[in-house]
Amino acid sequence: MGVVLGGSSLQLVAYVNGERVDATEMAHRPWRDLVKHPRYAELVLIECGLRAKRVTSHMGRQYFAHYPSLECPVVHKSESPQHLAMKQALKDRINAVPGWTAEVEAAHPERAWTADVLATNTDGRRLTFEVQLSQQTEEEFVRRSQRYVDDHRPGVGCPQRLRLVPGAAADDRNGLR
Ligand SMILES: [Zn+2]
Repeated sequence: MGVVLGGSSLQLVAYVNGERVDATEMAHRPWRDLVKHPRYAELVLIECGLRAKRVTSHMGRQYFAHYPSLECPVVHKSESPQHLAMKQALKDRINAVPGWTAEVEAAHPERAWTADVLATNTDGRRLTFEVQLSQQTEEEFVRRSQRYVDDHRPGVGCPQRLRLVPGAAADDRNGLR
């Protein structure tokens, strides 16, 4: 994989000193004023650690992207605004369910995986959701899911994993209802 300049990878979450800054959790005004924040220059994308900037779409949607003219050695997952909107909508629906809280682009502490949406119950159960807009081969889904299965470290656990395909019933691979 070669080095790409800039890149248009859009993300919902950036980090400052390891702490999440979630674009889906920010009201319009603090989002607009984020560029004036003293630590704005410390915002990075999690996968490459390179500087991030905030981007607002014509529709008013809020994203993070590479700061211009950075050479990034990482090939980020390329996700459409539609895909990102699905993640946010899913998070909002889960948060409306008593006992559950959700966050988008939830990263494993050691970055073994990033869940599109991670839902956590007050009883400790966790579910990860993968939003899928295009057809994905079975092998690809199994390969990506394997990263979760491989995660057996104590205290981290292995979240149940569900796949969501808009227009179809959720793929209930784990027998959960
Ligand atoms: Zn990058």
